[in-house]
Amino acid sequence: MLNPDSKKWLTKLFGKNVKFNEPMFRHTSLRVGGPAWAFVTPESFEKLSELIRWSKEKGIYCMVIGGGTNLLVKDGGINGIVVVLKKCFDGIARTGGGKNSVIVTAMAGTRLQTLCSFALNSGLEGMNFALGIPGTVGGAIIMNAGTAYGSIAEAIDSIKVLLPTGQTRIILRQNLQFDYRKLSWDRKITDIDNWQPIILNGCFSLRPSDPQRLKKQAVEILKARKKRQPSGFPSAGCFFKNPAFGKTAGELIDLAGLKGKSIKGAKISSKHANFILNKGNASAADMLALMELVQEKVSKIFNIELESEITIVGE
Ligand SMILES: Cc1cc2nc3c(=O)[nH]c(=O)nc-3n(C[C@H](O)[C@H](O)[C@H](O)COP(=O)(O)OP(=O)(O)OC[C@H]3O[C@@H](n4cnc5c(N)ncnc54)[C@H](O)[C@@H]3O)c2cc1C
Repeated sequence: MLNPDSKKWLTKLFGKNVKFNEPMFRHTSLRVGGPAWAFVTPESFEKLSELIRWSKEKGIYCMVIGGGTNLLVKDGGINGIVVVLKKCFDGIARTGGGKNSVIVTAMAGTRLQTLCSFALNSGLEGMNFALGIPGTVGGAIIMNAGTAYGSIAEAIDSIKVLLPTGQTRIILRQNLQFDYRKLSWDRKITDIDNWQPIILNGCFSLRPSDPQRLKKQAVEILKARKKRQPSGFPSAGCFFKNPAFGKTAGELIDLAGLKGKSIKGAKISSKHANFILNKGNASAADMLALMELVQEKVSKIFNIELESEITIVGE
């Protein structure tokens, strides 16, 4: 629990932009999760930086989230401070480029779909792969969000991060290691151990292209997505990573006979078996129980260990 002095400090700095014991189900697309000690929406870079320095000094866990579309927060909540950047880090601009490329910088709290629309409306190729992926630019970079058409790894040019000292650092593409739904970099670059990275913005390298062709492609991509994915119930998108070879996670779950299977409020979609849905009254424990059931069955039948794609946090 935060002590009264910490609460006082946070209230003085953030006023109405800090909430205490804020239920995280309000901030995740799965709509499950217990309370965070504090939930902060800083309205300036200076205040964000001060918060990060203060929490590091006090040893209080601090976590930045985006749209919460890839997050499962456990029912016991988050023993720490959750920060969202949508108030102070929302915006997109052309910031450079050469003959065949344009650099577009998007702030971390900007919706990924706003960046896709910006690219589309500017006749720039390179972001159509992300059409329909919910969440923010910061979340997409950390998750190396992607589809069959591509991923953030192919579009990014550099990122700007905030260090716990309050300083910022730019990390170029060649120093970023993108894997399946994962970003990392050589920690020597930021020179800090045990540090939860905070992304402030991403620079994307896009290419001028035929606007009509891009728009036609966008319509097709969105149509195919709509056809494939379930709608109407809260989810976090695909729950498990696809194995490196062979059948997809969805195919394995389907073959294990688990399509439509429920545990209390959590249900495996009957349309796409890699989606676990919240039927309306699910707890995080229901979601995790169903996740474990899937992992056990798939392991037993196919000898394949499915790894969760979503980020699981909390107590
Ligand atoms: C219906 C649906 C469909 C989806 N389809 C896809 C898809 O096709 N492809 C795909 O890849 N994903 C998909 N997802 C998953 C999700 O949308 C993506 O992973 C997305 O990029 C997460 O962004 P977010 O802002 O919501 O991140 P969050 O869920 O808020 O956070 C995810 C992780 O990123 C960290 N994080 C977020 N912002 C920052 C920041 N600024 N600095 C540091 N860390 C940060 C968080 O701490 C957390 O660890 C889907 C989800 C849903 C609900």
